[in-house]
Amino acid sequence: MEAFAARSERRRSRRLSNRPREIVGGPVGLRTVPTPLRIAMLAPPWIPVPSPGYGGVEPVISALTRALVRHGHEVTLLCAPGSRSTARVVTLLDKTHPDEIQRSPYEADHVARAFAFIDLAAPDERFDVVHDHSGFTALAMADRIDTPVVHTLHGPFTPSTAAFYAHHGHKAALVGISRSQLASAPPGLHAIAVIPNPIDLHIWPLRESKSDYVLWIGRMTAVKGPHRAIAAARIAGVPLILAGIIQPGHQAFFDKEVAPHIDGKRVRFVGEVGGVAKRALFAGARALLMPIRWNEPFGMVIVEALACGTPVITFPEGAARELVLEGKTGFLVDDEAAMGAAVGQLAHIAPAACRTWVAEHCEADVVADAYEQAYRAAVRTSPDRVAVTG
Ligand code: UDP
Repeated sequence: MEAFAARSERRRSRRLSNRPREIVGGPVGLRTVPTPLRIAMLAPPWIPVPSPGYGGVEPVISALTRALVRHGHEVTLLCAPGSRSTARVVTLLDKTHPDEIQRSPYEADHVARAFAFIDLAAPDERFDVVHDHSGFTALAMADRIDTPVVHTLHGPFTPSTAAFYAHHGHKAALVGISRSQLASAPPGLHAIAVIPNPIDLHIWPLRESKSDYVLWIGRMTAVKGPHRAIAAARIAGVPLILAGIIQPGHQAFFDKEVAPHIDGKRVRFVGEVGGVAKRALFAGARALLMPIRWNEPFGMVIVEALACGTPVITFPEGAARELVLEGKTGFLVDDEAAMGAAVGQLAHIAPAACRTWVAEHCEADVVADAYEQAYRAAVRTSPDRVAVTG
């Protein structure tokens, strides 16, 4: 009863807040939505934002957060220790957990502390919306906090995640990252938007004259296809640079399928890369090879390569079909032989056209605009956040 009274008081004080608001139509009449918004950006607990090397959602959160701050929003980044941002940074756990990704004790601890922080904010500091990237716990519990939640679907739908989303998906406003990702969503799951992952374009150099090598970069797993990239580069007769991480459980794959081909000349392995060195590697490559064999929900490396004016030669799986324009920003090919042959066609691709496509679709300010609309839609349709004005 006491908790209920406290919540009612919090909702009342939120309605009385005199921050600037815009009046919008909602399902139950006119409502006001604050402008600018006060956003709690909930990152995972595993590694800092931005990540020093390999990072899945961390670079995405970093670019989006910085753009939202540029747009004048008040953003608090709830994240792992060691994170840096132009937003207010609040770290919740004492240390990072890079080797314990998806271990529930850490995720549950991180999310519980984040929800307490969000729910107990002082009346004048209430958040308008939570943007969750943190895994599964926050979505499962999203109906337990007052603040509306926008949850970005970062992963593919597998039988177990599809069952999870079928049960809990209605608790937040869901955003997909590609149409192909949503095509495999469980029946009835509703996403309010498809918004591509953002990139801070200004830190990625456009390089029009390329070196001789082709690049493969990512996690050393069979689905990502480093071994197929080796075959394709050999067919094309060009040197290949492999960069990336060997995650726990994938050492045997690397030792059997990749390591025997590394000779330091035709096939070089440079390990995990980050920062300026990573960007130079992307910018210098004749092409990025993406011989993937899975329904990849996005493919950040595609956007990073295109940003540098580096064409992408990919198998037509998952979101790659949406991110690569045949003959304009790269080639969609069916196997290693066709990938090798496509290397001979790269002169037809203009590096500037690759970068322009990224600027129009994935540049962080463009993506932040789309998310602002998603946040406002979530606030408008959230049942408990009614500030009816007429
Ligand atoms: N990455 C990195 N260093 C590496 C390998 C990869 O920073 O050695 C980055 C890469 O630039 C990209 C991300 O990790 O930003 C991988 O994202 P992607 O969507 O391509 O693949 P995922 O691993 O999420 O399936």
